[in-house]
Amino acid sequence: MSGYPSYAVELEAPDLGSYRTGNTGVPYYTTFDSGTDGPHVLINALVHGNELCGAIAVDYLLRRRVRPTRGRLTLGFANVAAYLRFDPADPNATRYVDEDFNRVWDIATLEGDRTSVELERAREIRPLIDTVDYLLDIHSMQHRTVPLMMAGPLEKGRTLARAIGLPRHVIADAGHAAGRRLRDYAGFADPASPRNALLVECGQHWERAAPGIAIETSMRFLLQFGMIDRRAAEPHLSTDIPPPQVIEVTDAVTITTDRFRFAGDFVGMECLPKAGMTIGFDGDTAIVTPYDNCVLIMPTRRLAKGQTAVRLGRLIG
Ligand SMILES: [Zn+2]
Repeated sequence: MSGYPSYAVELEAPDLGSYRTGNTGVPYYTTFDSGTDGPHVLINALVHGNELCGAIAVDYLLRRRVRPTRGRLTLGFANVAAYLRFDPADPNATRYVDEDFNRVWDIATLEGDRTSVELERAREIRPLIDTVDYLLDIHSMQHRTVPLMMAGPLEKGRTLARAIGLPRHVIADAGHAAGRRLRDYAGFADPASPRNALLVECGQHWERAAPGIAIETSMRFLLQFGMIDRRAAEPHLSTDIPPPQVIEVTDAVTITTDRFRFAGDFVGMECLPKAGMTIGFDGDTAIVTPYDNCVLIMPTRRLAKGQTAVRLGRLIG
């Protein structure tokens, strides 16, 4: 797409071969049990096969032998089939093999007749997910913008995101029309359930700083649930993070034609000051900001019918 920058691959994809067997019965998932009471926490990487920072962070936690002081900690890699095809010469190609792994997590799809590489993997991982109390799902973004914590639509997600404190920009959102995300699966999306999930977007897919954000967010997540010693986490914690800023998603612009284009080279987090400003065109229809100070969240470069082009958010507080 003209006008948009193409981003260099500054990261190296780690070899995950030694994690294939794991100990959970689910390939590439390993659980460490403290032997004492406590929650089951999952730190999950590679829901998207080309998002290297999660693979680097979880590999780091495994190599550093991070172990829970209570409860159980599972470390895993989701869409390894896509990841194994990662090619630095064509880094956009391996987000998935057949379909987006993060759009198949509604029960009807999981239990339906349809099949794909991603659906089979989701069905394989699902029994393990069903035992998880708290999920941190590590992702990265197409554009180089500030890291974001995607807290989902519920107050419990926002509360947890604020407590973690990093990334400081917290997006309260309801996901995508194209299908349900893992972070919105089952109890994670039930206000009555104590289960909770966060999705962290650590920066641009291949930017050097992203794995550090992923590791620090993981450490903070584990500290939040009393799963590790503060002394073990401290070297990874930055001290100068401004207070959290919540942005509530009000609208998702879903593409309805084969001719969607943005009105500018948006990369995300732009704040359009006035209502009625043009964001883009879907066919001949202008898409405009519905209110003043409208924040553009994660505009996509994959401008296909049915996909979310961009989400719109309002600053809270
Ligand atoms: Zn992702």
